[in-house]
Amino acid sequence: MNKINQLNSELIDQIAAGEVIDRPASVVKELIENSLDANANLIEVHITRGGHDLIQICDNGCGINEEDIRLAFKRHTTSKIGILDDLNDIKTLGFRGEALPSIASVSRMSSRSSLDGKTAFEIIIHGGKEISFEPKASLKGSNFKVKNLFYNVPARRKFLKKPETEQRNINKIMRSFMLSRPDVAFRLISNNKTVYDVKVQELSKRIRSIYGSAFDKNILPVIMEKEPYYISGFVGNLSLVRRRQSEQYLFLNGRKIQNKLLNSAVYSAYQSLIKRGEYPFFTLFLEIPNSAFDVNVHPSKLEVRFINEWHVYHFIKSAITMVLQDILKVIPDYKSFNYKPSFNPNQTSELPLSGNSYSKIYFDQKAPHRGELNDNNLNIRNNNDNRLESAHMRIALKSTDPPVHKSNLESITENIWQIHNKYLITEIKSGLIIIDQHVAHERILFEEAKKAIEGNGFTSQTILFPQTIKLLPEEYTILIDITHYLEKIGFRLREFGKNTIIIEGVPPDINWGNENQIIREIIDQYISVKKIDPTFIDQIAALYACKSAIKAGDPLKHTERRNLIDRLFMTDHPYYCPHGRPIIINLSLDELDQRFERH
Ligand code: ADP
Ligand code: MG
Repeated sequence: MNKINQLNSELIDQIAAGEVIDRPASVVKELIENSLDANANLIEVHITRGGHDLIQICDNGCGINEEDIRLAFKRHTTSKIGILDDLNDIKTLGFRGEALPSIASVSRMSSRSSLDGKTAFEIIIHGGKEISFEPKASLKGSNFKVKNLFYNVPARRKFLKKPETEQRNINKIMRSFMLSRPDVAFRLISNNKTVYDVKVQELSKRIRSIYGSAFDKNILPVIMEKEPYYISGFVGNLSLVRRRQSEQYLFLNGRKIQNKLLNSAVYSAYQSLIKRGEYPFFTLFLEIPNSAFDVNVHPSKLEVRFINEWHVYHFIKSAITMVLQDILKVIPDYKSFNYKPSFNPNQTSELPLSGNSYSKIYFDQKAPHRGELNDNNLNIRNNNDNRLESAHMRIALKSTDPPVHKSNLESITENIWQIHNKYLITEIKSGLIIIDQHVAHERILFEEAKKAIEGNGFTSQTILFPQTIKLLPEEYTILIDITHYLEKIGFRLREFGKNTIIIEGVPPDINWGNENQIIREIIDQYISVKKIDPTFIDQIAALYACKSAIKAGDPLKHTERRNLIDRLFMTDHPYYCPHGRPIIINLSLDELDQRFERH
């Protein structure tokens, strides 16, 4: 064992730096926190190569005077707290006095600041050692430059990620600050290109500035007070649900925090609207007396400890539930609903309604809209008998369907009404539900198509009169890229001369006559996104579903109505269509009683 040494202060700073500063984004975070604590309302950030080379922050805050600039770079020097009691009531973002000495110990740093906007001083520190300290041209506020981060700590420099990755982390930190302080203007410039440039604005406008106008229509305001708690901000509706846990911001008294339990309070308010692995958008501001929690848990100050975490949980959950009420209202209460499908989805050996094979229905290519069909327009081939079936039986008899029990079908006693050939209405324990038949079928087909693309694929139906499509050369090359996906949903295509294909088989549920258009739209979609990713697959599935689903105006037989509802309730998301429109509206008895003034 070596002799015990007292570490010198530079080394201590470097060790401490490891806790506060682990990547360029954490430098940005610490410096912006300082600017905000200095009451700046304009903060400009310049980054070069993801912060590998340069991180620069200018603010118009209160500035630092001559003596204090030097002092600010000493360890545990802060203007923010002085006595122990202050720790119990921290109003600033910083308080530990660690950031500046930590950053300066692992980079080449300079800072210039002026208290009065007349005389400015600049200090230059390399790896914790002061290089110079002198008067400089004046400025309003402060300017911090951090060059060559970790130049003197190779072990850390090695762990820096690619500039693009570090830049992404910086962007994310910036979004968090921009959302937390819409009353401050921010600018982020990376390699001389503007990434963000937002002026002082309201929160909803700030969200729009960051995420674009698509967010505008899809955010719901949150506001609730219940002593001693207060919450405000916005949550996204179902259109903003993402597979990634990323755009979710919870600010506690203005400070971004990470807390799994409180995030789950938000998720739980969405109930069955979202499933595991799906995350709603939110930007929420929680205000709680400082005495009810402790932020001094970790140097990064992201974690907090609450005195009563479950109180906070229930408060958040009830605030969000209230906001989502309108969306949740369309959802029948599961407990009173007690829905039982009329067939057992796991049973496949039973005799299907029309024998052991399925009716295949062939439309003439020029078949009219399905709602206008009469039997003369149909060519029906049934493997067992030649009984003519209504075109709509396809809904009930698609080859991928679980078989429908004859006995169950006969025993259906509940009424399902179809009104205006558009909506289905049925009674449930707590009242009644109204279903939009088109979007319901769309949801069913969407999920089936997604499963087909990800799994074994649909079986194709052979067309009686194969169609040819002539494509532009560039469309044709695109088609080659995506043929695999088209085949998965049931298209069978063959080359047929130059840039021409022939469609020999189509998906099982397709609305005939639409195949040409579906293929063209899928090609267009691919041209615009240029990559095959989960969104592209969703889009293929959505296009197929939209074009193939029964329409408003299509009359449905009772068995078809029943089947549609059964299948709808077997989907993962029975309540919203792939485009976010509601599928089901719930009218409770309570609501009816109220409207009829039966109190
Ligand atoms: P802390 O923020 O925890 O106090 P820092 O090391 O980050 O510790 O900063 C040390 C001190 O330097 C701060 O307390 C503040 O007085 C001063 N300071 C840092 N940045 C700024 C700034 N942008 N404007 C004005 N003062 C600043
Ligand atoms: Mg600080």
